[in-house]
Amino acid sequence: MNVDLKNLVELQQLDDTIRSLEAEIQSLPRKIAAIESQLTEHIASVEADKKKIADNQKSRRKREGDITVLREKISKHKDQMLEVRTNEQYRALQHEIDFHEAAIQKIEDEILTEMIESESLERQLRSSEKNLREERARADIEIRDARERKQQDEEKLKEARSQRQQVCSLLSEQIYSSYERISAARRGRAVAAVVNGACEACHVRLRPQAYNDVQANEQILNCESCGCILVYVAPPVAQ
Ligand SMILES: [Zn+2]
Repeated sequence: MNVDLKNLVELQQLDDTIRSLEAEIQSLPRKIAAIESQLTEHIASVEADKKKIADNQKSRRKREGDITVLREKISKHKDQMLEVRTNEQYRALQHEIDFHEAAIQKIEDEILTEMIESESLERQLRSSEKNLREERARADIEIRDARERKQQDEEKLKEARSQRQQVCSLLSEQIYSSYERISAARRGRAVAAVVNGACEACHVRLRPQAYNDVQANEQILNCESCGCILVYVAPPVAQ
């Protein structure tokens, strides 16, 4: 193979590697942030569940306090009943007592509803706390892996960039600037393989003469359609 062509193929491979490493390095902090943000969201949801349980308990305690106050009133009325002189006064007190007892009954029903609600909230909390513990463990591993991956990528990138410099130093200014021009125009693709007689970049078939020339891989030829530098890749030999 032509030495320049061989170096151009290598340059393209290095540029592909560099591009994909750069993309991954950029994406990893976003990935970490997404994991952390989801975790924060789930922590907030567990905290909200805890608050619901605390509110429920607070409400029940308040209602129990209300019942105590009503029972004290009833007891006071019962004392007063011992001292009344008329039936009318007696009935009025009995009416008050009945009224308070009905109120107590109503509050007790509300407390019962809240107790049932509390049990379901506790069950929900236990389950979401368990999920959170699992998620936290998973997130820790994923974040650690992403950080390690980023570090490895940065090392590989450094290595690839230094290899790229070496390869570039072997190319003439003219060939290198031609590569860069095509690469810039075609979003990083300057070298294209010829597969089954067609340019892999634009899929246009080569004319027979051009195809013959390309198969030798002895000169730098550009695709007549897209301008890519062509390199012939022999089809795999059937076993
Ligand atoms: Zn082409």
